[in-house]
Amino acid sequence: PSNGNSEAGLIKLKLPTIKFTQLFINGQFVDSLSGKTFETIDPRTGELIARVAEGDKEDVDLAVKAARHAFDDGPWPRLSGFERGRIMMKFADLIDEHVEELAALDTINAGKLFSSGKAVDIPHAAHDFRYYAGAADKIHGEVLKMSRELHGYTLREPIGVVGHIIPWNFPSSMFSMKVAPSLAVGCTMVLKPAEQTPLSALYYAHLAKLAGIPDGVLNVVTGFGPTAGAAVASHMDIDKVSFTGSTEVGRVVMQAAATSNLKAVSLELGGKSPLIIFDDADIDKAAELAIIGILYNKGEICVASSRVYVQEGIYDELVRKLVEKAKAWKVGDPFDPTVRQGPQVDKKQFEKILSYIEHGKREGASLLTGGKPSGDKGYYIEPTIFADVKEDMLIAKDEIFGPVMSLMKFKTMEEAIKCANNTRYGLAAGIVTKNLDVANTVSRSIRAGTIWINCYFAFDKDCPYGGYKMSGFGRDMGMEALHKYLQVKSIVTPIYNSPW
Ligand code: NAD
Repeated sequence: PSNGNSEAGLIKLKLPTIKFTQLFINGQFVDSLSGKTFETIDPRTGELIARVAEGDKEDVDLAVKAARHAFDDGPWPRLSGFERGRIMMKFADLIDEHVEELAALDTINAGKLFSSGKAVDIPHAAHDFRYYAGAADKIHGEVLKMSRELHGYTLREPIGVVGHIIPWNFPSSMFSMKVAPSLAVGCTMVLKPAEQTPLSALYYAHLAKLAGIPDGVLNVVTGFGPTAGAAVASHMDIDKVSFTGSTEVGRVVMQAAATSNLKAVSLELGGKSPLIIFDDADIDKAAELAIIGILYNKGEICVASSRVYVQEGIYDELVRKLVEKAKAWKVGDPFDPTVRQGPQVDKKQFEKILSYIEHGKREGASLLTGGKPSGDKGYYIEPTIFADVKEDMLIAKDEIFGPVMSLMKFKTMEEAIKCANNTRYGLAAGIVTKNLDVANTVSRSIRAGTIWINCYFAFDKDCPYGGYKMSGFGRDMGMEALHKYLQVKSIVTPIYNSPW
């Protein structure tokens, strides 16, 4: 693996200049009130990229004050949906114009492949703003068929000030997925990016201002979870918190909402998604889906297919193919276009994954390939496959959030369904089969928010996305996401001047 510049001819480094490192409050870049900053690190080397303003409770207070004012008295919620949409379209165009800088920021900050940032994450972020810009003037309530002589109708109104708390694995997609629908409906907001990846969110804030989004509508407070994040979750003047992150922190956020102002909560949490491969599957296609399902974005994806169940008839052949593919999967500098896997996001995540690998070995699973760090600097890990994994092993139960596949063999469809549902999570599942009856039965029997049949990671703007069980509640993406940020108001009046 080349995780330095060893293939110098191939790697054209596109290191971005770091322009924005301060908090973005009320349309201005400002230092934190304490003057404190924290380090943001390049996981390719473990070296410092920049120091970023460390927001805390008092900075969140200022940001919420700006957002509250922008909501209660400012133009944004009062503009026509069409006008909001027009500004969001401009924002999307600016994102497209800055695709290289944004992709490079996510590469140096999160270790993401530059090529896929440029081709997928950033264009999709722009697309999110266009999708919801198109929805902004189509949000309406309904006329009710009342049972008495009353005229009743509903209005859908923006919920108010939203607190978005997001993780580090898809800094750009998380930003657009949260900000675009809430902007479209007329909310104002405070966004707290993950402490590992603050850089692109600040760049987006700069572009939002250039696009004409009024001051105070979008505020970005960088900082840590237990301080800045907790201040968002427990703020008395935030009307809704939209959280994406771990199940553990989701629980803390929900508690903070309950013990503060009972703000509305939606949670997009962890997963341990099963991919079930039946005997009749096209083996090459199944192997490709299984490999991409666990290695894409170095396994740091909440819907990773981290549990792969293979029917006994094709088990041996499929395992051979998986190992072959994992060995050929190139790990290295994420700026190198031939590389498939960059470094894990930070030292903590790197060590956590390696400790799960050690656990897997100790518990008696068979390590077929990988299992070690890759290269001699940065946080790279070899694509890792465990076979003979038992349902009660930690590597079959916990979300590892790294390039580690757990393989299990099954005999019947009923057994596969039972195993797939044997988890506290319910984010996604995949099924590979040519049998329509099997596909229909399994997809309806698995308790998860998204089921992919003969595909994996088939995301679409129009397709709602979220969890069952301890993977959370509420849906991002699609028209469903708008409902997270809307209130329903009922208005009733007598039809005749008669006693009601
Ligand atoms: P995390 O829960 O540690 O952090 C997420 C965010 O919460 C960060 O911004 C963090 O600063 C903040 N935070 C931490 N402690 C807090 C507190 N006490 N109060 C308020 N905010 C706090 O998660 P992570 O490590 O950044 O991301 C990985 C996790 O996110 C994985 O479990 C993954 O499955 C999940 N995830 C879920 C989805 C989804 O859509 N369901 C998408 C991506 C990631």
